[in-house]
Amino acid sequence: MLCDKTISILVKLISKNKENFGYLPKFDREEDIQVIIESLIERLQDNDPYFHPHYVGHMSSYASDLSLVGYLMASQINPNNHSYEGGRATTNMEVECINKMGSMIGWKNTKGHLTSSGTIANLESLWLARESGATAVIVSTQGHYSHKRNSSILGMECIHVPTDKNGKMRINCLEEVLIGREKAVVVATLGTTLLGAVDPLDEIVSLKVKYNFILHTDAAYGGYFKLIEDSLSPSVMRSFLSLAKSDSIVIDPHKKGLQPFGCGSILINPAYKNISDKYQHESPYTYFDKTGISLGKETLECSRSGASAAALWATMQFYTLEKEGVFSSKLKNSKLAADKFAQMVHRSEFFECISDHYDLDIVVFKISNNVEIKKKTLCLFEAMKTKGYFLALASGTYKNTYFDNSFIRCTFMKSEHVDIIAQLYLTLETTLAEIETIEIDQ
Ligand SMILES: *Cc1c(COP(=O)(O)O)cnc(C)c1O
Repeated sequence: MLCDKTISILVKLISKNKENFGYLPKFDREEDIQVIIESLIERLQDNDPYFHPHYVGHMSSYASDLSLVGYLMASQINPNNHSYEGGRATTNMEVECINKMGSMIGWKNTKGHLTSSGTIANLESLWLARESGATAVIVSTQGHYSHKRNSSILGMECIHVPTDKNGKMRINCLEEVLIGREKAVVVATLGTTLLGAVDPLDEIVSLKVKYNFILHTDAAYGGYFKLIEDSLSPSVMRSFLSLAKSDSIVIDPHKKGLQPFGCGSILINPAYKNISDKYQHESPYTYFDKTGISLGKETLECSRSGASAAALWATMQFYTLEKEGVFSSKLKNSKLAADKFAQMVHRSEFFECISDHYDLDIVVFKISNNVEIKKKTLCLFEAMKTKGYFLALASGTYKNTYFDNSFIRCTFMKSEHVDIIAQLYLTLETTLAEIETIEIDQ
């Protein structure tokens, strides 16, 4: 939600946006917005408060005020970053953003662009790998579900490598799959969707030297943690230090980057061979403005929102990608919230963590007592909602038993979570006690 100060500035800025095109004949639309938007606002009430720190369920954060205002300002002009003539200003902003994200990785002259999502960015990465000769996609069983579907779209075999009990790819199992295999693309996940687990990228990179595969890193969720790698556990830090060895990387600004949904990115290693050749296509009706870069020449999608680039650019002017900055301290707070919360669960007799440790800012736990656990977990989930806390449910295996929707998953992706975890934990304990008393009474 836009803060009050932003709303008052916005009113002035909107008319300014309009004045800039005042050299053209006046062009107003006849839409009657009042009644319709009022009814839209009513309908939007049927939502959980995804933007609020009391929402700890899915990977939904809030969009920064800068992104919302940036999006609104640019989408009024409606640029399309497919071609330079389709959106000069926003194309230049997109290139700046990609270069800064590449610098965060440790690359200069990074190739790549924004996408509509992480799934599409991953599809593009796997497609580049296929065009470079890969026939198989190797990903851990905890990798994002879209890799299998993307492999099937591309006609590539998808091989799943088992994970250890903390959700990380098992390296010896990866090596077994690689032995005797011709060209493959290995997908390392830095921050799995369920547990936030970070695959041992440094060890995967060592195998790359031996087996010569293409390395794609899916850091849709975890990518920005690169900025605070020094404060992560030593093995996780080593993974982030190896990030630059990837051939391609996916990072979603709409996950941890304070953007409204519709903003993913693919970053391509400048050393990746013959990239431009892969994208060769004929498009006689576009790319006629040669004074700047037409990003569409090297993207899988055609039309892409210039407004997304404006939103990200505006955000990145304030939340700069520095190791010691406002944005990094936000990431550190998220991590701190998760660590503190996991500690509370570890110490508790009522709940237990399903991993020994959590690499990033996601914590998954369950009610300790397995009797009627699915029913109790659902009751807890619903009761917490009535008290203003919004969780997520998840399924998975713990100590060799499969639990269907009996895990509780908390993503502490907003830095403000650090201020609410003690109250959240207390509310969980008291609510569980209430549920158990009701059950005994019945
Ligand atoms: C969210 C996520 C994706 C998919 O990204 P979308 O933007 O939701 O399409 C892929 N990989 C990982 C690790 C993710 O967390």
